[in-house]
Amino acid sequence: MLSAATQLRTSRYNFHVPVEDGAILYNTRTAALLQFRGPDALALTKSLCAIETSIPPGVLTVDVVDTLQKGGFIISPYFDEVAEIRTLFQHARHETPMVLTLTTTMDCNLGCYYCYEQRSADQLTYAQLPSILEHVRTRLAQSHRQALHVDWYGGEPLMNLAFMEQASRQLQALCEHLSIAYTASIISNGTC
Ligand code: SF4
Repeated sequence: MLSAATQLRTSRYNFHVPVEDGAILYNTRTAALLQFRGPDALALTKSLCAIETSIPPGVLTVDVVDTLQKGGFIISPYFDEVAEIRTLFQHARHETPMVLTLTTTMDCNLGCYYCYEQRSADQLTYAQLPSILEHVRTRLAQSHRQALHVDWYGGEPLMNLAFMEQASRQLQALCEHLSIAYTASIISNGTC
């Protein structure tokens, strides 16, 4: 934990937005957001947006330092933000699930006026299941991912429930065989 007496540095990821009664400070690395009000708000947030600027000890109170530090707006001079983001990026590339979106059918039982789908009778069939499984197996092997996430999509995916149930069972069996995790979600209008 840093204190007001510790040498500090502004984050290179701080941005400020003037608003009616002050300013908003936002950090794109941590997604933290603070609202400042009063006549000094804009000047303060502007100074915190000066990239990697040293803040002499004692300029800010302990409470302010604590709040700004929790949001990642000010950091230790020894903390490498770019390295941190690089690590998160590598983690996301290699350790997040492989995502497979399966459009079980282009058909839908509704007709929302804003719908951009070409609603038709086209749908996935059992005959396509082996090639889907082979595609998943190959991509998992290439990517070395340790999890598969299936996103059931449409049209209205539940209008091809029989395919969904069979494909779901076989995809889960494949994941179990490969010792990787399986999760799924569905985009549905919820009326079936
Ligand atoms: S529920 Fe979805 S797919 Fe169906 S008509 Fe509405 S927007 Fe289109």
